[in-house]
Amino acid sequence: MATTSFTAPKLSSPTFQTLCRNLPLSLPIPKALSSFSFHLSPFLSRFHLHHHPRRLFAVRAESENGGEPLRHYDFDLFTIGAGSGGVRASRFAANFGASVAVCELPFSTISSETTGGVGGTCVLRGCVPKKLMVYASKYSHEFDESNGFGWKYDTEPKHDWSTLMANKNAELQRLTGIYKNILNKAGVTLIEGRGKIVDPHTVDVDGKLYTARHILISVGGRPFILDIPGSEFAIDSDAALDLPSKPEKVAIVGGGYIALEFAGIFNGLTTEVHVFIRQKKVLRGFDEEIRDFVGEQMALRGIQFHTEESPQAIVKSADGSLSLKTNKGTIEGFSHIMFATGRRPNTKNLGLESVGVKINKNGAIEVDEYSRTTVPSIWAVGDVTDRINLTPVALMEGAALAKTLFQNEPTKPDYSTYWLRQFIHLPAGKQFLVPNYHLAIST
Ligand code: FAD
Repeated sequence: MATTSFTAPKLSSPTFQTLCRNLPLSLPIPKALSSFSFHLSPFLSRFHLHHHPRRLFAVRAESENGGEPLRHYDFDLFTIGAGSGGVRASRFAANFGASVAVCELPFSTISSETTGGVGGTCVLRGCVPKKLMVYASKYSHEFDESNGFGWKYDTEPKHDWSTLMANKNAELQRLTGIYKNILNKAGVTLIEGRGKIVDPHTVDVDGKLYTARHILISVGGRPFILDIPGSEFAIDSDAALDLPSKPEKVAIVGGGYIALEFAGIFNGLTTEVHVFIRQKKVLRGFDEEIRDFVGEQMALRGIQFHTEESPQAIVKSADGSLSLKTNKGTIEGFSHIMFATGRRPNTKNLGLESVGVKINKNGAIEVDEYSRTTVPSIWAVGDVTDRINLTPVALMEGAALAKTLFQNEPTKPDYSTYWLRQFIHLPAGKQFLVPNYHLAIST
């Protein structure tokens, strides 16, 4: 990695120093926006936005290494993808005085080549909607347990799926609006459309060209469904979070944390759940005792595990039900078969090859320890680099990049000291705290 003098634009010194003194590293964000503590307005109460005075700065970067002739760019930074990493990097860069634009696909609950939405996977198709579903699923267990504490109901509580979906979607709309507002307040120009790199300093968004001193790729990833016969009948996590009706009997293929969280969600919502894993145990790579304990607890809740079973084909019957054929046999009668078999970086059709950005065999962008790609003016953070695919990591990488580029402070993302707090939700509503992947129980 080259040093600051090469990589970071030297912003006009006195002005920049003043700006740095005046600007906080981060604008205060409403508590409700911190990664995992969202207020659930359609569910509980109205969320009140805290307004902060708008600070807008338009500082133009000067020549990067003094020798280079000054070239005019439309922006100091152009970010492709307004998910966790892209929003964080763009907002911080703007707060450091850079002129910043970010492009993002139009909103949809299901991601595709042409749809996405400001906020990205975590907010629209990951952490947040998943957590809302976890909350919904917990009640059934609590109703059960409440009988022992003396609660009696004349009729069994009923769950209305359409209310859950409508409120979940209203919440996503609210959150995407808040993220747009955050960008707007920071002075970031938001452009709706699909970004594609044309040359080391130019991005094409649906036919319109924008130039930038630096380009950031933060396009994340998308769910990956195994290519087996009948895979067109399978759903992925995007669809599983947005089903029009409750699944009656679901097969979940995969034993990672996303698969297990969905198993817990559907189980709590009284769906019959079968989980198919290639290995003997769930949660490969996690602490062995936890792998055993999680599997046991989930089985006690009625989730059926099919271990060492790999899917080979899906067959749709005349009545619309689905069968899953595996190496051990066929199980029939599923209303849904969900694949939670990993995600792939969104690097297709981005113009990377033509401009010389190297990608690895899994399609992830190769970066150095400062998140710089093989093209000096192009950078990448978050899931598209396939380092540690979690929201706090994408946020941290985005923040580090903004400092490197616009605060004269080359900053490597620090994974060793970064405390990744993750929660795995079990059907009983118990949570497992996962710091740096070493699990500790925190019920
Ligand atoms: P993303 O958030 O995916 O953002 C990328 C954005 O780029 C998207 O909005 C996309 O529409 C846009 N985009 C793509 N291509 C283009 C283009 N060409 N032009 C313009 N825009 C484009 N992480 C956790 O830490 N905790 C959790 O509990 C958790 N739960 C999860 C549950 C599920 C079901 C899933 C799928 C993921 C979960 N994650 C969780 C992972 C987390 O969502 C990701 O790690 C995080 O969102 C990555 O952020 P990112 O900025 O790299 O990409």
